[in-house]
Amino acid sequence: MQNSDYKDDGTNILLDANENAFGPSLDAASIAAYSSSSQSNDNNSQGIDPLGLHRYPDPHQLDLKQLLCTLRNTHAHTEKTLTPANLFVGVGSDEAIDALLRCFCVPGKDRILTCPPTYGMYAVSAQVNDVAIAKVPLLPAPTFGLDVPAISAALSADPSIKIAYLCSPGNPTGSLLAKADVVALLNHPTWNGVIVLDEAYIDFAPDNASLAELVAEYPNLVVMQTLSKAFGMAGIRLGVAFAPAPIATLLNSLKAPYNISSPTSALAHSAVSAQGLSVMESNRAKIIAQRDRIIKEIASIPGVGRLRGGTESNFLLFEMLNAQGQPDNAVALAAYEKLAETKGVVVRFRGKEHGCLGCLRITVGTEEEVTRFLAALKKTLEEVRA
Ligand SMILES: *Cc1c(COP(=O)(O)O)cnc(C)c1O
Repeated sequence: MQNSDYKDDGTNILLDANENAFGPSLDAASIAAYSSSSQSNDNNSQGIDPLGLHRYPDPHQLDLKQLLCTLRNTHAHTEKTLTPANLFVGVGSDEAIDALLRCFCVPGKDRILTCPPTYGMYAVSAQVNDVAIAKVPLLPAPTFGLDVPAISAALSADPSIKIAYLCSPGNPTGSLLAKADVVALLNHPTWNGVIVLDEAYIDFAPDNASLAELVAEYPNLVVMQTLSKAFGMAGIRLGVAFAPAPIATLLNSLKAPYNISSPTSALAHSAVSAQGLSVMESNRAKIIAQRDRIIKEIASIPGVGRLRGGTESNFLLFEMLNAQGQPDNAVALAAYEKLAETKGVVVRFRGKEHGCLGCLRITVGTEEEVTRFLAALKKTLEEVRA
């Protein structure tokens, strides 16, 4: 759930929701096939329903699941192989977050653990399900790593914690969690819950960073991914949970049977096929180039402080400084509002999150968007800090 506070009215540039301004990971042929067939609602040569929309969709999605397994069976972390029996596909990662809660937590009794600063949807879903939250903050910026001793102690002390939601690369931190830290928690000697690793941004991290295939090794690991970010398809709502087969069976048993629509499934197939992957890789290279450019050019803007998180994502977390050179929420909030309301550039204020004092989170956009953002930020900070 990443909806903007401001509208996409054709003049604003929206750098606030970590979407992918380069568009969907679809080759020209797939886009043409989809748009021509979706417009043909008359009796043409393909019949009245070339998209098959009058039929219920496939409740199992085995072909799509096989493509997703093939994508993540890198054998960088295990010799074992993921199969469609290890998968749940849902209406975005948001459905998986909620399904896991409903699967493992008794409302009003059990709890989850999160590590702030982190993605807001874990808390939203927990609240909706009447599940309380135990919080163990990440270690201080710029590492934003897991505090393994503190998390282990919390899990030892409270058996009512049934799920720990970890985000890697983190939102809003942009930092990849250390594999050794995740493995240390998976090997907790007494706790009997599930570690959920949210890898929404994993395709912006170095090759083989995904730990998805470790679900074949650990009975207590679930890894979530999505087509919303690197694949540029937030609008189709397709999220994935890689899980040990018994957990995948539970998730698939409790979902609505037709949760994935036929158009979503068809577009997801195209995106994770060879042609779609090459579009994704090319757009990712452009995003990474613009990310590096922001880091380089933003440093010379007066009032911009340190990069607070990592660089393993499609967004960056930067401090805004007051006239005394200190990170300052008043400056950051004023800059956020002025950027949106007078410059049509929408980023996200994150200064109230744990360890993020004075921070704005900036989604990396296209070359033109970054040019406009950098100029607007420079002017805005001059005005705000005067
Ligand atoms: C954007 C994001 C998601 C994506 O959610 P979808 O429901 O798949 O669009 C998941 N987790 C994190 C941390 C995110 O930032």
